[in-house]
Amino acid sequence: MTSLLDRDHPYPGRLIIVEGIDGSGKSTQLGLLQKWLLNSKYRVFFTEWNSSALVNETIKRGKKKNLLTPTTFSLLHATDFADRLAHLILPPLKSGMIVCADRYAYTAFARDVIRGVHPEWVRSLYGFAVKPNIGFYFKVPIEVSLKRILNGRIELKFHEAGMDLGLSNDPRESFRLFQTRVLEEYDKIATEFGLTVIDATLSIRKQQKIIREIVEEHLHDYTPTPYLQKKENVYVA
Ligand code: ADP
Repeated sequence: MTSLLDRDHPYPGRLIIVEGIDGSGKSTQLGLLQKWLLNSKYRVFFTEWNSSALVNETIKRGKKKNLLTPTTFSLLHATDFADRLAHLILPPLKSGMIVCADRYAYTAFARDVIRGVHPEWVRSLYGFAVKPNIGFYFKVPIEVSLKRILNGRIELKFHEAGMDLGLSNDPRESFRLFQTRVLEEYDKIATEFGLTVIDATLSIRKQQKIIREIVEEHLHDYTPTPYLQKKENVYVA
C-alpha cells in the first residue's frame, strides 16, 4: 500500500503538526511556536482539526444526534481533512510557507480505531495526506490532562470524554477509559510514523524551549519565499 505519509513531500514550504490527547497542551505549544516563527519573520499559516466549512455542520449534527457509525464518523472527518488539505494546507506549502496544523491524520488513526474501524483501513483512507516535516507528539498521563482541562471549565464535552462509546455513564470515568485507549494508540502511532515525543508534563516554558530547538534545527535548509513587494503597482519578489 503506497501512502504519501511514508515519503517526504516535494514542496518548498514546511509542515509542522502537533498531536496528543485533549489537555496535553499541544495547542498552547503550537500557538507559542507560531508567534516565535512570525517574530522571526517567517510566513506562517495555521489550521486545525475538524474545521472545514464543507462538512462542519454535518459532523456537528451527526454527533449531536448520535447518528454516526464508526465508518461514517471516520469518512466525514476524512472529508473535512481532504478539504482542508486541498485548500488550506497544500497552497501555502506550495508557496513556501510554514504550515502549523493542530492535529493531523494521526488523530484519526488514534480515535477512529478505538471507535471500531480497522487500523489499515483508516491509514489507507488518509493515504493522500502529505508527510509532515515535523510531527510532535505531546505525551501526558490521563490525570494530568484531565486536571488541566477541568482547571479551565466545569465539565467535559461529550465526545472529548468518549461518551458515545458507552464505556461509563460518568463523564470523568469515561474520559479516563477513552483517553487511556487513545494514549495506547498514540504510542503505537508515534513509533510507526516517527513522531517526535515531547514530555508534556514539563512546564510550558521548558517544552517550548525544546520545541524551538528542534524546529530551528529542521529549518536550517529551509529557504523562505521572500515577501512580495510593491514596485510601480506590480508585486515582485
Ligand atoms: P490541548 O490543545 O492539548 O487540548 P491546551 O493547549 O488547550 O491543550 O491546554 C489545556 C490547558 O492546560 C490550558 O488551560 C493550558 O493553559 C494548560 N496547559 C498547557 N500546557 C501546560 C503545562 N505544560 N503545564 C500546565 N498547564 C498547561
